Parts: sequence; structure tokens; C-alpha cells
Amino acid sequence: MLKKLFQSLRSPLRPPQQHFRTTPEVLNSSQHSLQRGQFSRYAVNIVERLQTAGYQAYLVGGCVRDLMLNIEPKDFDVATSATPEQVRAEFRNARIIGRRFKLVHIHFGREIIEVATFRANHPQDDEEEDSNQSSRNESGRILRDNVYGTLEEDAQRRDFTINALYYDPVTERVLDYANGVHDIRNRLIRLIGDPQQRYKEDPVRMLRAVRFAAKLDFGIEKHSTTPIRPLAPMLRDIPAARLFEEVLKLFLSGYAEPVFEMLVDLELFEPLFPASSKALEYNPTYTHTLISQALINTDLRIKQNKPVTPAFLFAALLWPALPAKVLRLQERGMPPIAAMQEAAHDLIIEQCQRIAIPKRFTLPIREIWDMQERLPRRSGKRADLLLDNSRFRAGYDFLLLREAAGEQTDGLGDWWTEYQDGNDSERRNMIRDLSNKPEGTGPAPRKRRRSPGKRKGSGEASNVAGE
Ligand code: ATP
Ligand code: MG
Repeated sequence: MLKKLFQSLRSPLRPPQQHFRTTPEVLNSSQHSLQRGQFSRYAVNIVERLQTAGYQAYLVGGCVRDLMLNIEPKDFDVATSATPEQVRAEFRNARIIGRRFKLVHIHFGREIIEVATFRANHPQDDEEEDSNQSSRNESGRILRDNVYGTLEEDAQRRDFTINALYYDPVTERVLDYANGVHDIRNRLIRLIGDPQQRYKEDPVRMLRAVRFAAKLDFGIEKHSTTPIRPLAPMLRDIPAARLFEEVLKLFLSGYAEPVFEMLVDLELFEPLFPASSKALEYNPTYTHTLISQALINTDLRIKQNKPVTPAFLFAALLWPALPAKVLRLQERGMPPIAAMQEAAHDLIIEQCQRIAIPKRFTLPIREIWDMQERLPRRSGKRADLLLDNSRFRAGYDFLLLREAAGEQTDGLGDWWTEYQDGNDSERRNMIRDLSNKPEGTGPAPRKRRRSPGKRKGSGEASNVAGE
């Protein structure tokens, strides 16, 4: 299928090291595989209307790239010479939105088409000093992003060659400024321009390279790979809120497992998840298995259109970093349960400095972890109370994940599986049987604390906060 597609594309256009041309290579409808009908009709209508009003307008970015690869696009982006105000004047259902830069959203029922005005790179950015990456860098980016430009400049400021293809649905022509068609054919992610400079301008492009490589099953071209490891620490200066969004895209796009492998290989995992990265060093097999198994499950759920919660994902990504912190606190004399609570708290605070995980997720992360402390304690009415807990399912799934990664829990996962399947009398028997054997332990290194009046080994001594 792809072979046929590529045969319909033109043969190599220019040597691959020539990344940008000032006049685009133009492919007419017989030279590419795209068809107008494959694009959102709303997006096509917008382009037609803008052109009729005298502006330049194209479909651009991910939709052109994905359709060339026979992948269904996530959304349809339009680029135009009209300013946001001019676009809004043309459409009743248009709204200007602006976060890092002004864009127009045109609404058609549930579908939203994003229309962006051609932009240029801010020339001063090229002179930025390495040593001045932080806030000045960031404000520099905002400035630059608001500078409108020509079509050619718009193509040049885009990240990868495969993302700088413009499709005109009226003439059915593709404009290729950066040999993007060549790179699609060769399945390569390649930055436009000098890779090191483009990564320095916006280090998030390193994460985008990984995301597209995983999603499209492309390689990252050699010169675009080489600067990544040395520049990876620059991610530490990216605002944590932006990184949260990028990390969600990385891990919720259905290709989280290959993304993880690539992040580790390219040393991008450390600046995102410093504590987990340490765990990967001192406990590699367990940490790697737990995280990759969680991501494999996530990818599968996405393919099956099942819901996935970022809380579960972060709970798994951070879990292997907990024991070391618990141990450190215990060594300072803190009791085990308190140490576990404090370690969880500290770890989340520390992590949020890199990736701003919102409260609506940090709370459930803590609950999933707390549940790991509670699941071994099943005697009396506790098991039934746990079953009724809204976090039970996530906690139970997490327990199975830990077991799959090789954690010893004394068959706790199986016990809970059986308990959920059991009828009333079977459940009562299971609880009765428990008093004959000591209960399983939680994940963190811990010594059981005996408190007065509690039976030895029952696990009842754990008055976990919130219980
Ligand atoms: P998808 O939507 O499938 O994830 P996409 O390529 O459409 O992929 P978006 O994040 O929607 O990605 O961005 C749209 C386009 O904007 C990209 O194709 C690229 O041309 C440009 N772009 C986005 N982020 C950057 C960036 N950090 N630097 C340069 N160009 C970018
Ligand atoms: Mg897109």
C-alpha cells in the first residue's frame, strides 16, 4: 500500500541535506496521493472561503502528513495569510483564542478547525545566549510566536520537514518547502534548519521528535538525533505546565511504550522524571518492567477505545521511585506508614516542579498508592469496605501491575480476583481463612509496627492516614 503511495509521489527532489527552499516544490494532483475528500469538509470550506476573500490559505501540518501515510488525522489545521481578526470577520462561528500565540477556532458542532496566521521566527532568537535559557528564553519564544510572516517564513519556522507540507484543496496541489515528501517516503523525522539551533529555540521539539517517531514508526534522522542527548537537560527550563501537556500527548497517544524506550535511550526521561530515572539506575529490571507494562496496558486500552486516566499512568511512572525515599525517611527514624505517606507527598511535590500535574490527578495518584497499603489488610469488614471504595478498581489494577513486574505480594492479586468473583459465603470463608495466615505486605521496605491490643502479623497496626 505504502509502496504504491510512494510510487505516486515524485522521486527524490533534492539532496536530503538541503532542508529548506525559498520556492516550494509543487506537486500537482497526479504527483501525490491526497484527495480533497479525505479532508474535513469544514476545513476545506474554510480554505475555500478565505481564498475567495483574497487570502492565501492551506491545510497544513499533521493532517497532510498523516493522510500521505494513510493514517486518519487527529485534527485539521489551516494556515492563512489573514490575521486572526480578519479570519474572525469572515466566519460567524469563529473565536480568537490565545495562549502562547493567537489562533482562531472555528466551530462546526463538535468539530473545531484551528486557523493559524502565517508566522515567522523572531530574528533575535538566533542570537540568544545559551546561558540565558530561563525566563528570558520563554518570553523570547512568546514574542517570536506572535510575529506574522509570509507563507515561506511560516514553512521555515515549523519543526519537522514532514510537518511543513501545505495542501491546497482548490488546486489540489501540495507545496513542499523542506523536502517533506522525500522524508515521508524515507520514513524520517528531520528538523528544518540546523537541528541544534532549532532544539535550543524550543527544547520541546526533542519530545515532539520522539512522539512523531513513535506514532509514525519513523526513524529520527542522524543529524536530528545527535544534539538531543547533550541538549536534553534544557527541558528542565521549560515551564512545568507546558511539559504536563506534552507528556500527556507522549503517553496518551497510543504509543506510550515505544515513546518511553526512546525517551530513556535519548536521555530525555531524566529531565522529565528525575526520581524515576534514578530508580531505573538502581533497580533497572523492576522499574523498567513496571513502567513499560503500565504503558503497554495504556496503549492497548487506547486501541480498544477504553478510557485511560493520567492518574494511573503517573502513579506507575513514579511508583518505583518511592521505596528509596521511604527507606531514607525510615533510616531517620520515621515509622513505616508515616514514611510512606511523607515519601509520596515529597515525591509528588518534587515531580510537579518538572511536570505540573494538576491536583485533580495528584489526589487520585495518592489514593492509588494508599490503596496498595490497604489491600493487604482485609480482615473483618475491611475487604468489603475496600470493594466499595471508588478507588478500588484502580488500586487493584495497580496491584496486578506490581505483581506483573515481579513484586512479591503473597498472592494478594489472586486473592482479590477470587474475592470479587465470590458469593457471600465464599467471601466469608476467605476472610475466615485469613486469620490463619499472616497477611501480605505493601511495596515499600518496612518493618511492621506492633501497637497495643492488635494481633501480631494481622497488619491491623497500620493506621494509614485517611483510613
Ligand atoms: P498531531 O496533531 O497529529 O499531534 P501535528 O503535526 O498536527 O500532529 P500539532 O502539535 O497539532 O502537531 O502542531 C501543528 C503544526 O504546528 C505542526 O505540524 C508543526 O508544523 C507546527 N508546530 C507545532 N509545534 C511546533 C513547535 N514547537 N515548533 C515548530 N513548529 C511547531
Ligand atoms: Mg495537529
